[in-house]
Amino acid sequence: MNIPGNNTDLRNALEDVNLPNLLAVVACITGDDYWLQDKFAPAPIEAPDGSMFPDDSGRYSDEIAAEIKAAAVQVISELRDGRRPMPPAPDQARLQQLMSFTVAEPVDDGYAAMLMEETRFRDRDDQWKAQLQQAVAAGRAEDFLVVIIGAGMSGLGTAAKLQAAGIPYVVLEKNDAVGGTWYENTYPDCGVDTPNHYYSYSFNRNPNWSGYFSKRDELFAYFDNCADEFDVRGNIRFNTEVRRAAYDNKTNKWTVDIQTGDDAEQISANVVISAVGQLNRPSMPDIPGLQDFAGESWHSARWRGDVDLSGKRVAVIGTGCSCVQLLPKTAAVADRALVFQRTPHWVSPARDYYRPVEQGQLWALNHIPFYAEFHRARMIWSFGDRVWPAVVADPDWQQSGLSMNETNHGMREALTEFIKEGLGEKTHYVEKCVPDFPVWGKRLIVDNGWYPTLARDNVDLITDPIKRIVAAGIEMQDGTVHEVDVLILATGFHTNQFLWPMDIIGKNGQTLEAIWGDAANAYKGVSVPDFPNMYCLYGPNTNIVHGGSIIYQVECQIHYVMQCITAMLEKRLDALEVRAEANKTYNEEVQAISRTLAWGHPNVESWYKNSAGQVVNNSPFSLQKYWQVTHELDLADYHLQQAGDNEAA
Ligand code: NAP
Repeated sequence: MNIPGNNTDLRNALEDVNLPNLLAVVACITGDDYWLQDKFAPAPIEAPDGSMFPDDSGRYSDEIAAEIKAAAVQVISELRDGRRPMPPAPDQARLQQLMSFTVAEPVDDGYAAMLMEETRFRDRDDQWKAQLQQAVAAGRAEDFLVVIIGAGMSGLGTAAKLQAAGIPYVVLEKNDAVGGTWYENTYPDCGVDTPNHYYSYSFNRNPNWSGYFSKRDELFAYFDNCADEFDVRGNIRFNTEVRRAAYDNKTNKWTVDIQTGDDAEQISANVVISAVGQLNRPSMPDIPGLQDFAGESWHSARWRGDVDLSGKRVAVIGTGCSCVQLLPKTAAVADRALVFQRTPHWVSPARDYYRPVEQGQLWALNHIPFYAEFHRARMIWSFGDRVWPAVVADPDWQQSGLSMNETNHGMREALTEFIKEGLGEKTHYVEKCVPDFPVWGKRLIVDNGWYPTLARDNVDLITDPIKRIVAAGIEMQDGTVHEVDVLILATGFHTNQFLWPMDIIGKNGQTLEAIWGDAANAYKGVSVPDFPNMYCLYGPNTNIVHGGSIIYQVECQIHYVMQCITAMLEKRLDALEVRAEANKTYNEEVQAISRTLAWGHPNVESWYKNSAGQVVNNSPFSLQKYWQVTHELDLADYHLQQAGDNEAA
């Protein structure tokens, strides 16, 4: 790493950094356990009031903080000036030791193993890279083609791996650009709810995020740049929609029917990877009369930036994350904003939501060795599985109608106070805003001023049932008509029909839709019996509620799929199909665990559940557990069919 500048630059930067992270850096560079004495132990992670971020100061005394900074200036300047050799990256034992010390909590072996890969102190691709290279060098990837459906976050990440490995692939993208959800959603204040230094590929971190939670344009630019940095853009066919994909038992290949404008075409592929996401097909509400509305109306994911909302009467139906994000800016310009809520969500205070990344922090992320890695590891620790115990049902808990356990109940009380404070004088809204399901029954919405927005004079929260839409506005069951100029439908997405509206036809001639109905399931969320050589990314039961980044989940899946592709080429397999029994056992466990978690609670009605109340979208596992579940491909879980053979094993 080239470290620019002089000691003044360095000292200035250190004013903005996270001190426990800096301590880990100093310990790494020096290799000296002097820095792990009790006097350097930071305070345990505890977010200051109204913040999702742990205190950056470590709560050190001035004297200890000065000693850490002085040591950092010395060792980093020595590295810069070539007076000290660049130390090797920490191994797993050292990472575990340093993390445990600096987060002031025990970090176990499994977590340390996962963090080694997430920081890239260890390259997870090493698990399959050499075998795949050999197979490619032996010409096994000739006449082999992988079709990836979708050029959003999952598709780009997979294309990156295939491109680097020299495996022929094509990405089919229905839009005219990459980015998926970050391309399509342009509503006001659209942004991410996971800190960006974690919400980014582990293999393409961005040290230059302008904020801790970036907004849509910056996120789109990141993914757009990734398409070039990964050198995959040339393999993407834009404006191309997959209509149907059918598996041919004789050739063991997929025939993929695609449509580009008026042109229909067929592609023959060895492997199909669905990277379509869970939130890409807007769901229009089943409210009668939508087409009768005389004003402008649109779905939140199809934002009409050309319509000026200033001075207008605007109605928003739905109060999920999209509505919460778009409302404050909408209400700030509208004459009136009417919010139609069916169910309230829990909203989490987030003082740092709009916090820009400080200049010194940017400098450190770019120029201080190991700092970005420890920063990412700390974000994963703070925003991941630390809350897991709060989402698991305590069988002896008395208030199980409202909460899962004592910690979960404490959150309910704290967030209820937050609601009351935010609503101010509109105390009559409090009851409407407190959910009747446990905290984490749905993913916590990161606050952007939701309750103070509802408290505005020009905003009304309406919870009575809607009867229908009429030309002038929204008619309620009691006959009242709320007249509005604009109607925004923040009503979510088709989530339970995973690959809808594509027809995906397996080896027995049945469609996925027919087999799944609204109870989609897949082995590890990825492989489906009867659908050989087909893999889902962000598939059934892989969404995360308690915390964490969906990019993390998808990278776990990409890693698993790359092992499948490696096995196919290395072992000359024509087909790899998950065994029905393995899938059944896995999904029985998924459902059994889901019933004990906050999002499986009977009071929760959400897009995570199907009509039978089964959780079909969310992962039942902690982040670390899912990493473990997907880390090693076990071929015993699969039927293998070798070239020209019947089943080989
Ligand atoms: P959503 O969470 O599914 O919310 C849809 C809203 O529309 C709900 O309030 C729902 O009420 C309401 N609704 C649906 N049909 C209705 C009907 N017929 N009548 C009245 N109300 C109706 O959708 P979303 O807000 O677009 O968010 C979807 C997901 O996208 C989120 O869960 C999140 O994972 C992701 N997202 C993330 C971010 C971010 O992190 N930055 C931002 C936006 C979205 P009920 O709750 O009663 O069903």
